[in-house]
Order: sequence, then C-alpha cells, then structure tokens
Amino acid sequence: MKSLSFIVGVLLLSFGCHREASSNEALEKTIQKENKFAIIIHGGAGTILKKNMSEENEIAYKLKLEEAIKVGHTILKTGGTSQEAVMRTIQVMEESPLFNAGKGAVFTHDETNELDASFMDGKTRNAGAVAGVKNVKSPIALAIKIMTHSDHVMLSGEGASRFAKEQGLEIVPPSYFYTEKRFKSLQRIQKKEKTKMGEKDLKAAFYDAEIKNSKFGTVGCVALDKSGNIAAGTSTGGMTNKRWGRIGDAPIIGAGTYANNLTCGVSATGWGEYFIRGQVAYDISAQMEYQHKSLKEATTDVIQHKLTQLGGTGGVVALDKDGNMSFEFNTAGMYRASMNDQGTLIVKIYKE
Ligand code: ASP
Repeated sequence: MKSLSFIVGVLLLSFGCHREASSNEALEKTIQKENKFAIIIHGGAGTILKKNMSEENEIAYKLKLEEAIKVGHTILKTGGTSQEAVMRTIQVMEESPLFNAGKGAVFTHDETNELDASFMDGKTRNAGAVAGVKNVKSPIALAIKIMTHSDHVMLSGEGASRFAKEQGLEIVPPSYFYTEKRFKSLQRIQKKEKTKMGEKDLKAAFYDAEIKNSKFGTVGCVALDKSGNIAAGTSTGGMTNKRWGRIGDAPIIGAGTYANNLTCGVSATGWGEYFIRGQVAYDISAQMEYQHKSLKEATTDVIQHKLTQLGGTGGVVALDKDGNMSFEFNTAGMYRASMNDQGTLIVKIYKE
C-alpha cells in the first residue's frame, strides 16, 4: 500500500512538473512575443579590408559601435520608444569623428560639409528628412523635428538650418565638422581627379573608380521596441568631393531609409545614386509585403541581385516586425552591430 501511494505520488509530481514546464513554456512564448525588441546599426560599407586596417583602428570602430548600440538597447530594454533609441544611437556615431556623419562628415568639392539625414516611424509611416545642412550638430535630431514639428517631410539648406534654430537644436560653426583625415581624403581625390581626367569631364571624374573603392561611412540604425514599433534612421556627410548641392540616398525616404510596422525597417549605406534609382529600402519592404518574402530573402534579392546588377555598391541593415535582423552588403566590409532582447551583441566589420 505504502509503495502504491509512493508511485502515485511520483506520477502526480512528474505530471505536475510537466504541466508546469509546458505552461512556463507557453508563458515564455507570450512574454517573448510581447516583449521582443531588437536593434541593429551600421557605420558605413565599402572597401574595408583587414589588411588595410590597423589593430588600433579596428578596436576603435568596434568599441564605438558597441557604445552606440548599447545606448539604444538600454532605451528599448527599459521600455523606451524605437524613435528615441534610433536617435540616441545615431547621435553617438554622429559625435564620433570615426564615421561619415555629424562630426566626421566628408568634405564637398568646395571644402564645406553638407549633411543629410532621415528618419521614419513604422507605426504612422510619418517621416522627416534634411539635406545639405552645414551647421546643425545632429542632423538626425533635425530630421525627427521636421517630422514632429513641421508640416513637411523634407527641408534643405538654409531653410532647414533656420528651422533647426527655431526649434532650439544645437547649431555649431562649420569648423566643428573639420577633421584632418576627411580633409586629406578630399585633397587626395581632387589631386587624382585633376591628374587623371583634367577638369573637362567632371561627370566621369565624379564616378571615378576612387568613389567605387571608397569607404562609405554613413551611419544608420533600425530598432523595434516593446510595443512592436519599428523606427529607422540614417545620417551622413554624403560622398567626398560631392558638388553642385548633390544629395544622396540617405535623406530620401524609400531609398536610404524606410520603416513599416507591417514589414520591416531599413537603413542603407553605399553609393547613393544607385540606392535612389533602386529604391532600395522600400523595395525590401515591398517584397515582404507583396511577395511575402522573409527579411533575409528580400534583403538578399535587393542587395545581391538588383543593386549589384545596376552596378551599385553598399549595404543595408534591416529588422522585421518579429525582431529578425539582417546585415546585407556587396562590398568587402560594413561596420555593423546588432543586439537582441536577450542582450546578445554582435559587432563585425569584414565579410565572414
Ligand atoms: N549613401 C551615402 C551617400 O550616397 C554615402 C554613404 O553611405 O556613406 O550620400
């Protein structure tokens, strides 16, 4: 009798444990689904080869990427919005001279710095963008202000600066954006341009192999918050030696930046003209929406097939509504990092 009740007890206990385990599993699933958040960033793509990178530089880039993404991750983890996470994360990179955005922006042909940025909110599909500002410390903050405090999506140049001032954003003297490294690369490109092509064929000069082989140091971030809202932002100094008020893809919604809670968020970096022609960021979302592709399938098709066939170089970081993430690029490297809701951090530079 004693042994019978022991067996029954063991059976009940194990049944109870099993039930507890499976209900825990179910609970975990709900919690995961409800609380899923994630963040992904890039700091530019291009001819980034290990053999050309000093160990010191590699560490500096990796540390800065880690610092930036952790700022956004903490915001998301503590219940903040994807908008806040994207802005703060990008600001860390804008303030670093390492990236071609904010402080480290490249120089134009006229030795100025002209900054572009954009932001999109995947819930409302509202967006803000700025092109060619010369004295706004944080172009990504300005892009968001344009979205939240104006009737417009895109402002440019002088007018955009005036708006930034009116909104109380930090204005800096143009010299704030001077870095020796960027100035030297302008001089190098201009010297090459003159000796190789002369001043006659400016268009050909602009599309010189120098550009093809350059590093695009734009920064971008896509985040999914605990409420399921996706936001994407991109900030850049554009391309070295750009002229005639050239504007790239970074401030073009659908080209350099896109977000839609129903599909995904995307931020791009690379040879902007091709990203505009390919409507790269929107195409990824559209393939998911209309062809029901996964994030990975859509980013692979758009970057490895369509962009590559056009002749464009660069990459994207993207994140879907379920928190899946994708780094996709057709260049030798892309400064990049991601963090999921478990806090798993990935920081990479080169192609694996
Ligand atoms: N996409 C940017 C542009 O064309 C450059 C970059 O990604 O660094 O302006």
